[in-house]
Amino acid sequence: MNQQPGPQPLTEEQWQAVVSNDASYDGHFFYAVKTTGIFCRPSCKSRPPKQEHIGLFHTPEQAVAAGYRPCKRCKPTGLRLPDEEWISLVTDYIDNHYAEPLTLDTLAAICHGTPYHLHRTFKKVKGKTPVEYIQDIRIEKAKAELIRTSKPVSEVGHGVGLSNTPYFITLFKKKTGHTPASYRHDPATRS
Ligand SMILES: [Zn+2]
Repeated sequence: MNQQPGPQPLTEEQWQAVVSNDASYDGHFFYAVKTTGIFCRPSCKSRPPKQEHIGLFHTPEQAVAAGYRPCKRCKPTGLRLPDEEWISLVTDYIDNHYAEPLTLDTLAAICHGTPYHLHRTFKKVKGKTPVEYIQDIRIEKAKAELIRTSKPVSEVGHGVGLSNTPYFITLFKKKTGHTPASYRHDPATRS
């Protein structure tokens, strides 16, 4: 991707500062979350990530150079992350984690915003809500699986994060106009 040095491990003292949102460490270091690509000040009130997923930078410039984006909540560069960039982080996260349980609340916590703000900003940027986006991704993946494999419908649903089979079938029908079974067996349904 790039030749910039990646984040370094945190000391136990620094990790404790992150866990306790200790503002006295602000400016001394910044922590980056590898799973989301976001970096924060130690005092950030966002839900603390797993220790093995975070790393340290000494300056915000190093974090930006290594490809990380400033957190929308604690604004470690003093600048606001543009809405489009924030939402592209969110959609990247959904694209890679659609098979896991995802709600507006968990997504907002992971992506460092409030549920209300995420919902509103996402809709403004993408023209649909985060929940609609998650549903669309799951149904697109399910369509591909139905055609590519002979897995039972329940297993296809489970594989895209829709473990409740009646709900999966209902949602599939709402989005495509067909049941998963007829979509699989009748090529005419795949316009
Ligand atoms: Zn933050």
